[in-house]
Amino acid sequence: MIEVDFRAVDRKDLPPPTLDFLHLDTLWLQVTGTLCNLACTHCFISCGPKNDSHPFMSLDDVRGAVESAAAMGVQEIYFTGGEPFMHPDIKEMIELCLEVAPLNILTNGILITPEMADWLAHKFKTAKYSLDLRVSLDGTTPKENDAIRGRKTFDKIIASVELLWNAGINPVITVTTCHADLSAVEGRMKFIELLAEHGITQPRMKFLSPFKIGREERRDQGYADYQRLVEGDLLEGEEHDLQCSSCRMVTAKGVWPCPILIEVPEARMGISLDDAAIPIKLDHPACYTCHVEGVSCRT
Ligand code: SF4
Ligand code: SF4
Repeated sequence: MIEVDFRAVDRKDLPPPTLDFLHLDTLWLQVTGTLCNLACTHCFISCGPKNDSHPFMSLDDVRGAVESAAAMGVQEIYFTGGEPFMHPDIKEMIELCLEVAPLNILTNGILITPEMADWLAHKFKTAKYSLDLRVSLDGTTPKENDAIRGRKTFDKIIASVELLWNAGINPVITVTTCHADLSAVEGRMKFIELLAEHGITQPRMKFLSPFKIGREERRDQGYADYQRLVEGDLLEGEEHDLQCSSCRMVTAKGVWPCPILIEVPEARMGISLDDAAIPIKLDHPACYTCHVEGVSCRT
């Protein structure tokens, strides 16, 4: 973590840093837009059953984005939403991506049926490129998790993780550290113990700091005025660490620099990946979290 006293200067009138686009390593696809079966209190894009500000992508939308990305040399693809397993064409989308690059799917796990777990496990073993899943869990007890993800979600998420594990897939458990003690070593060990209790002997974990936008801004608090980046803040070589130098997010409504800013209309870069292969200004307060906490949405 970078330790700088950002409050020491009045930053609001200073220009933001510019970040060059280096190459397209990672293609993000918002396959189900902002529609989700849950409405988590920390969701930084305020997804939910009624938020269709970004609708589902069509199979043709996904195919077009993947073909463009392949021509640009993409190295990996991520599905997110919303909840990707709400999409009726999810299997076709997975299959077409696995012909082109490794695929990661970010899910809350709740809609994964035994049939889907077996189908995914078959793809996991036989596809041309690797398939990986991330399942979100925000506490080691129902009380802790359900306060963020909704009533009775803890039990459903654990059941889904067991289903995947028993089918032969070891998902990455993704924890957003809304409960401060979950980022400390003791908090992390509790997850390892919890997963061991459920038979998962090789736990894979990712811990993410919350972005203080969307519903998280209302749950906790937003960014302070000083929490923004200005020219000169980026460290030497940091352009290689910030995912937005080598990723783009495609939704049904166009292209954005990253998965975090899709509800920021001014951040939209155009309709095609070619339009978006240009430098960006790191002028959103969420960029402060990426810089200071070193957050990347990649696995
Ligand atoms: S955090 Fe994930 S599971 Fe929760 S509402 Fe947002 S997209 Fe859905
Ligand atoms: S929020 Fe993070 S990933 Fe998105 S443009 Fe800002 S620095 Fe890049």
